[in-house]
Amino acid sequence: MGNTSLERRYTPLIILLLVAALVATIGLWATERAGSERGETQHIAAAGGDSYEWKMVTTWPKNFPGLGMAAENFSKLVEEMSDGRLTVHVYGAGELVPAMQVFDAVSQGVVDAGHGAAYYWKGKVPSAVFFTSIPFGLNAQEMNGWLHYGGGLELWQEAYAPYNLVPMAGGSTGVQMAGWFNKEINSIEDLKGLKMRIPGLAGEVFANAGGTAVTIPGGELYTSMQTGVIDALEWVGPYNDLAFGFHEVARYYYYPGWHEPGSILEFVVNKDSLEALPEDLQAIVVTASRAANQDMLDEYTARNNAALQSLIDEHGVQLRRLPDDVLLALWKGTQVAMEKLVADDPMAAKVYASYRKFYQGVRNYHHISEQAYINARDVAIGDDEL
Ligand code: CA
Repeated sequence: MGNTSLERRYTPLIILLLVAALVATIGLWATERAGSERGETQHIAAAGGDSYEWKMVTTWPKNFPGLGMAAENFSKLVEEMSDGRLTVHVYGAGELVPAMQVFDAVSQGVVDAGHGAAYYWKGKVPSAVFFTSIPFGLNAQEMNGWLHYGGGLELWQEAYAPYNLVPMAGGSTGVQMAGWFNKEINSIEDLKGLKMRIPGLAGEVFANAGGTAVTIPGGELYTSMQTGVIDALEWVGPYNDLAFGFHEVARYYYYPGWHEPGSILEFVVNKDSLEALPEDLQAIVVTASRAANQDMLDEYTARNNAALQSLIDEHGVQLRRLPDDVLLALWKGTQVAMEKLVADDPMAAKVYASYRKFYQGVRNYHHISEQAYINARDVAIGDDEL
């Protein structure tokens, strides 16, 4: 009887304790489960099942300012955005493969990715010149518009598909400088007999003008100029050219960069390497390339003028503008080179049709926008301080 009374008295308390114990147990179980799931993911990542390592070779010296930083920025962005699930190891020219073998190394799957410039490969892919820059062509803003919203990137992908390569814009230099010369250029006659490092379609234009054009990787340019192997060279612009020290081996620095008005660099990725990634990492690769592409233009825009002033004021460089009649002759030579390019290569003709249509439209609009504004700014402000 007494026990029954005792049971009745404590039954609600026992039930309450049992419920509390159950809640506590479920809570503990849920916490442990969440912890073990996190641990499991880390474990998989640690075991390598969920993480990827790429090798990226470049056509520039390792950590080279400007151009070389695109690959480093890309690597950093990919690692941060993927929380370390994709690591991209960057190798400078010559570390794994020579500069001019980047295309083949990525195509053949020797490495996963590369950074360089499409026009270096015009011997294999004649249409590639359009994806870097062509003489008197689109500027940086316009190139990015054509590639990403005007059908250019799709054509680039089509041109590289036979090589198992996926291209992406990998840096935007803006208008380059016409280059370094060991003598003054006062007429088109002065180009005759000159040996110049000038790649892409512009090289053929230069050859049409009576010069000799060669493609030499950046890292070999200083010595080539110093030893007289070449008489002239173009590289990028003041920020990059100062870093290479070209002012020590050439006196005259010419503008404007008629030959490369808006050069786009490239990331090339081996198609199998890209497709081996889960979709989120593929999206990170694409997004990181877009960011690195724009970042380069931002950096050049910020640094070129200070470098130019240093070249002139501290290093005694002679800044010169190419005369109008030289520019006109180079334009005529460009038309000749372009006719030959599109006649010889059906893909080049197809790319040119797209490029030309975009060019006509954007040039028309930029007459009354970008160009009109820069003219208006000069009219209003002139040489005054802002
Ligand atoms: Ca260049």
